[in-house]
Amino acid sequence: NVVPNDLNAFWMPFTANRQFKKTPRMFVAARDMHYTTSDGRQVLDGTAGLWCCNAGHARPKIVEAIARQAAELDYAPAFQMGHPKAFELANRLVDITPDGLDHVLFTNSGSESVETALKLALAFHKIKGEGSRTRLIGRERAYHGVNFGGISVGGIVTNRKMFGTLLAGVDHMPHTHNLAKNAFSKGPPEYGTELADELERIVTLHDASTIAAVIVEPVAGSTGVLIPPPGYLKRLREITKKHGILLIFDEVITGYGRLGTPFGADYFDVVPDIMVTAKGLTNGVVPMGAVMVSAEIHDAFMNGPEHVIEFFHGYTYSGNPIASAAGLATLETYKEEGLLTRGAELAPKFQEALHSLKGLPHVIDIRNIGLVGAIELEPIAGQPTKRAFSAFLKAFEQGLLIRTTGDIIALSPPLIISESQIDEIVTKLAGILKTLE
Ligand code: PMP
Repeated sequence: NVVPNDLNAFWMPFTANRQFKKTPRMFVAARDMHYTTSDGRQVLDGTAGLWCCNAGHARPKIVEAIARQAAELDYAPAFQMGHPKAFELANRLVDITPDGLDHVLFTNSGSESVETALKLALAFHKIKGEGSRTRLIGRERAYHGVNFGGISVGGIVTNRKMFGTLLAGVDHMPHTHNLAKNAFSKGPPEYGTELADELERIVTLHDASTIAAVIVEPVAGSTGVLIPPPGYLKRLREITKKHGILLIFDEVITGYGRLGTPFGADYFDVVPDIMVTAKGLTNGVVPMGAVMVSAEIHDAFMNGPEHVIEFFHGYTYSGNPIASAAGLATLETYKEEGLLTRGAELAPKFQEALHSLKGLPHVIDIRNIGLVGAIELEPIAGQPTKRAFSAFLKAFEQGLLIRTTGDIIALSPPLIISESQIDEIVTKLAGILKTLE
């Protein structure tokens, strides 16, 4: 039996973890589209791990690059010293980011990338002599990781409430999902701009000269695949530009091909000032994040050496050799296999398959963009999350990994998925939905 007898020492403070420890479900191996469980079953990966293994699992090029790098140069100090692969990876990233985002800071996770972006935004204004710009604006129902800045600008109240005031001076715009109005992504054309104009309201309330940055996920992922209505992000860009406020896109999920374009910024044709990424950067294999910034921001810091010294930031593992090697091999794999745009080719098939679930018991909404989708279920009265979690357990028993968040089933398969595997996911889900209480 590969499952240890005592699961107590390992602790992840999520509520779901209590249930997990009663009935542990462990993966012991993975390859391409499948995981192997501790009892030897194959499970089709409908979620790319946690939205991160975009090229599938155990891809030989990435495995070999990591092994070779570990043997050749395992670590180089991140401050006074460097090593070539970090520079090479930064250059390859700049090749695929939208024009204007030409400088890269490396971190070790999405959460660290978020903190890096927020600190950059605040320090940038200070350097420019606009130190009054200290306020940050996030959005309801947004997820920006678990660190202090990220939960402050994040829109999940339950993640914040134990920690007092957190970052001072944070406002939250309304989220983009309005099921009751059926307005989200399908609403009237003016809905997107109307919704973005909420930002104008907040700006007027506080005065533009006090606001440093607005942070949004182009598509909110882990809170249920909330796709903004047409015009929404373009209008946010107009408003932020007009008032000298920086726009930050958190592309931890939407980056690296998830929407069928390299980044969400490409999909919506809106270039932010700062782009936050992680997950798919190394195919989820080695922890790494990257924050891309505009030349204006980079130059403001670099042209004044005293500012660089005042702005102390960077991690022991920023651009570490093994992560950089994994990142380079991942980007090569994406390029060779056309994965950064494969989501666009598969999107019509994915959409058709997903929407075939319409009308099945408990399904109240289905939404999709690129290779990410959500099936929203009617919650059981007084027992939110129960119905979707029961779908998760049934799917797992039937050899399918899905992710649930609240009463929403989220799908984000590796971008190497075949059309018949899309059918397999949807056929299994259809069967499961029919048996749910
Ligand atoms: N931002 C977004 C949009 C995310 O989806 C996530 C993780 N799901 C994070 C930040 C945090 O990333 P990490 O868990 O790597 O810290």
